[in-house]
Amino acid sequence: MKVLLANPRGFCAGVERAIEIVERALALHGAPIYVRHEVVHNKFVVDGLKAKGAIFVEEISAVPSGKVVIFSAHGVSKTVRQQASQIGAIIYDATCPLVAKVHKEVVRKQKQSHQVILIGHEGHPEVEGTLGQSDQSANIALVETIADVDKLTLDNKQLSYTTQTTLSVDDTQKIVNALKAKFPEIKAPKKEDICYATQNRQDAVKTLMQDSDVLLVLGSSNSSNSNRLREIAEKMHKNAHLIDGASEIQTSWLEGVNTVGVTAGASAPEILVQEVVDCLHDHGASEIIEVNGTKENVHFPIPEQLR
Ligand code: SF4
Repeated sequence: MKVLLANPRGFCAGVERAIEIVERALALHGAPIYVRHEVVHNKFVVDGLKAKGAIFVEEISAVPSGKVVIFSAHGVSKTVRQQASQIGAIIYDATCPLVAKVHKEVVRKQKQSHQVILIGHEGHPEVEGTLGQSDQSANIALVETIADVDKLTLDNKQLSYTTQTTLSVDDTQKIVNALKAKFPEIKAPKKEDICYATQNRQDAVKTLMQDSDVLLVLGSSNSSNSNRLREIAEKMHKNAHLIDGASEIQTSWLEGVNTVGVTAGASAPEILVQEVVDCLHDHGASEIIEVNGTKENVHFPIPEQLR
């Protein structure tokens, strides 16, 4: 059995920055510190930070006054920001700069009196944060599917769209096409909102699965970009499994398999990939090959107060 490792895979610049912010805040202020929502959607990472003294909460109301609060990489609404200020929290913002860019775009478009249409998954924290940049919910509409586009009725003729950063590139293009067909005047974002890391990891899986029989994706079930990687393999009619670690691999998945593809979502650390490689080695894998792919050298600085 052969193992092909996707490139690039695993941590993106936004995730590295978010984790570093939590670690540095812990070092500076001491435990406990509070993190609003899982700082990144990965069980291994979150469990590790919990062990160091981070407390993850869903609502600011669960944070005592005057404590350290960190906003997760997915970003937060204006209301959450206000709530944190009102309790006198020491705030560090781990919102990925590429999500913050989308927030700014929403605010800018609404200042121009545009109706914004957000393409994204209902209930995902990034989507809630982006919807929450609008002062009036009537000025921003969420669509998840082409059927949602069909149902849209809008009075405002000044329209713009924006997207969640971690969507399927191919599915999003279909929704954008439907929007353009229905509203030919609709304005696109200045620059693509789906982020470089999402795009590169999806391209890498498409390449990898041309030569692999099955795909293992390291990533937690609530990780949007990890789920999209699994779906790409499934659309290519290959079996694919989203796993939090090597212990979840089932022997039956490897029966009759010549080549296993392995990748990791943007929030899954490389150590988990190496544990999977070791496990596959124990299952008889004789060759481990790093597939060539796009080189990434994106880095986002952490807030000045934590440098
Ligand atoms: S996946 Fe993209 S948007 Fe999300 S944290 Fe990483 S770089 Fe930022």
